[in-house]
This record gives sequence, structure tokens and C-alpha cells, in this order.
Amino acid sequence: MIAKTKAIKNIEKFTDSMPTIRYVDPEYVYLAVQNARCQVGDVLVKEGDYVKIGDKIALRHGPFFEQPVHSTVSGVVEGIVKKYHRCGKLVDFIKIKNDKKDVLSDSYHERTDEEIKALTKDEFVEILKEQASVGLGGSSFPTYIKFQTDDPIHTICINGVECEPYLSADHRIILEHPDRVLTGAMYCKQVLKAKRVCICIKKKYEDLYDCLNAAKLRYPDLNLEVIKVGNYYPQGWELEMLRTALHLDLEPGSIPAKSGVMVLNVSTVAGIYQSVKFNLPVIKRNFTLTGDGIKLPQNIRIRVGTSLKELIELCGGYKGDENKVVILGGPMMGANLLNDDAVITKACTSCIILNEKNYKEEPCVRCASCVYSCPCGLQPVLIMQAYKNKDKEALKMLGVKKCILCGMCSYTCTSKIHLTEIMRKAKKMIQ
Ligand code: SF4
Ligand code: SF4
Repeated sequence: MIAKTKAIKNIEKFTDSMPTIRYVDPEYVYLAVQNARCQVGDVLVKEGDYVKIGDKIALRHGPFFEQPVHSTVSGVVEGIVKKYHRCGKLVDFIKIKNDKKDVLSDSYHERTDEEIKALTKDEFVEILKEQASVGLGGSSFPTYIKFQTDDPIHTICINGVECEPYLSADHRIILEHPDRVLTGAMYCKQVLKAKRVCICIKKKYEDLYDCLNAAKLRYPDLNLEVIKVGNYYPQGWELEMLRTALHLDLEPGSIPAKSGVMVLNVSTVAGIYQSVKFNLPVIKRNFTLTGDGIKLPQNIRIRVGTSLKELIELCGGYKGDENKVVILGGPMMGANLLNDDAVITKACTSCIILNEKNYKEEPCVRCASCVYSCPCGLQPVLIMQAYKNKDKEALKMLGVKKCILCGMCSYTCTSKIHLTEIMRKAKKMIQ
């Protein structure tokens, strides 16, 4: 397995201008009992049970929260299987045979605009909690916890930057479903009593700029501003985005709500629309499958819980005879998988499949490229040394906790050292 950040320069195709195709009726879906944030989960169904879309089938236990898992199809539970999760680990998945009738849970109901306007913040939070709304840009952080803030929020800042190279799932959701995004934004603005909403996009995307500015005419109360930010990585990191868009300079580790700003990803906001309007969890999402190791890179609308292997077949299968590098998530921050027996979960934005190239790590030449490229102002080369010396005090002093695992140091390292992996291990060492 090679350092993935060394191989991403080989991806050939961009998918941002490709319309989303649909693959929403797989034979089976697989829903994770555990995930990166919740190591433990209770299964609430057994083999042979019939479930509907939106029924609770498991309950995950996180460090300070619980999270229901919902069925994304109607059909029959066939048991528990092990597959790869986007966190890179093998976890338990509940396997459900899809009857393709799309029978909705008894908890489904459509709220009128008046009912939504009348929701208290506690009621809104409860909906997000019950429908397991999480950050769909990849963070998977429970959204209801963000909304529980007592800090007054004046601005909702929607992150449509999607800064990791080659990803386009959020791009297509804005272009193809702007009303879901803007209606979700309206619900958030109402409940937080915010004064304004802004959506940040890369400045090169004129199509998104025009689309959002046309759509906002239908939402005069939204007070929406579309803000163009830089085209570079990691412009979508929330603190970098706030610095550029709102001239708000926050220290790594700061919570934007303390400064009156709520940051939400664009797909998360579309998911909030679904949960608040229909009392349903996210059951479908946009997904990008790309890389030089796949024949037909695509944006795909998928059912949450679809097997990655089926999507690879849908895209014409693998290209080239080389070994493949499978990255679930973006090329900079995603997880390398040992094989493609994986599942697309709710917060999974993309998969990059690369043809393996032989890159060899060389000794550090003290060039400091990693230092210049770090958006958190860290010194990865010194952290690497402290990690090798198992010097926990030095790791703390060098501020490794602030590392956001963005991948830039690995990407820029002259000696092709997989520094981000070292940062990950160093963070664990001092936990
Ligand atoms: S992964 Fe590397 S570049 Fe990114 S924040 Fe951490 S140390 Fe800095
Ligand atoms: S970029 Fe790589 S070679 Fe250069 S100082 Fe950092 S670790 Fe050493």
C-alpha cells in the first residue's frame, strides 16, 4: 500500500461537470452498527424481521451521546456481516434485503411550513437527534449537539467548498437540488434566529455562483450571500473558510459558535431539510467515485448502505492491471482500505481508486516543505522526530493536538514520507 497522497496527482478525470446518475435500488443494504465515533452499538432487530424506511434498527453508543441507526430500505433483515467502514476498520453491518417497495416508517410525517416555523429549538434539536443527523461532509459529528449551543448565532455559514481534490458530490447537490439546500438553510436560520446565511464556494465555480444567486430569489427572507473563496486546499477547513469568507480569525480548536457563527456542510443542510420536513433520516446521498483505476468516474445518487463493489461495477470496473489503492473519503483525508469490500455510509462523500505506483520513502532532507505547507502552523518534521523518540512532552509542546490530519505535509514532503500517518499516531500517543 502506498502513501495515498503521493498518488493523487495521477487521477485523470474530473467529475464536477458530470450530471449525477442514480443507483438507488440495490438488492441489499448494509447499515453499520458501530462507526469511528461510536465503538459500541446494540442491534435492535433480528434475522427475519421486516423493517421499513426510517425504522430504528440499532443504537450506537458514543463517548457522550447515543445515535440511532435507521433502515434505508423496506425489506427483511438477513443478519450481521463484517465489512469495511469508511473509518478504515472492519465493523458489523446489518444486512437487509431490499423489497424495493419503499414502505416508509410509521414515524414518517410531513410538517407544514407553519408547523416548522413554530418548532422550538428543543423540538428542532430532538428531531435532529432522533433522525441521527450528522455532518455529511465527512465529519459525521452529531448535528443536534451543534444546535444545542446557548451562544447567540448571528450567521449561518454553509460550507460548499469541497476543497479536497477531485470530489464533486457537494458540487452536484448544489447544482441539482438548490432548493433542498436553501430550504434546509431557512429552517436553520428560523430556529437559531440568525440574521444572515452565507454559502461559501470555490471562486472557480461560476456555475454554482449563478445557480445559487438565481435560487435565492425564491427565498427573500433568507438574507443569503454567496461568497467565493479560494480554490486551494484546505480552504474548506472551517477555520480557513471563516478566515477568508468572514475575516474571522480563530485559533485551531476554537468553536465558531462562540463567535456567533454556525458552520454546516451543504449536504448536511440538505439532510436537515429531509429530517425536519418529513421526519426521516438521510436515506440517499450524492457520492463521487473516481480515480485513474476506475473506467468511468461518476457522481452517483446512492442509497445509504450500498456496497462499494456494486458501484465499481456500475462504473465499468477497474482500469489497468496494476494493484489498486482504495481510498474511502477524499484523497487527502480519507482512509486507505485493504480491499473493496466496503459500504457507503451516510457521511461517506467519495471513493478514489488509484493504480498503485512504487514510491519509496527517502530519509528526511530537512527541506521544511512540510512546515511551510501546514495550515495549522505546526512543524511536522520535528513532530516526526519527537514521535520516533517517544517523547510525549515534546509532542505536547509542538502542539500535535492541533493537527487536523489534512494530509498536506505528506503531499508536499520531498522525501515522500507519510507524515500524516505519523501525525495520527503521535496524536494517539498523547491521548
Ligand atoms: S496533517 Fe500535516 S499539514 Fe495537516 S495539520 Fe497535520 S501536521 Fe499540519
Ligand atoms: S518535507 Fe519531508 S524531507 Fe522536508 S523537512 Fe519535512 S519531513 Fe523532511
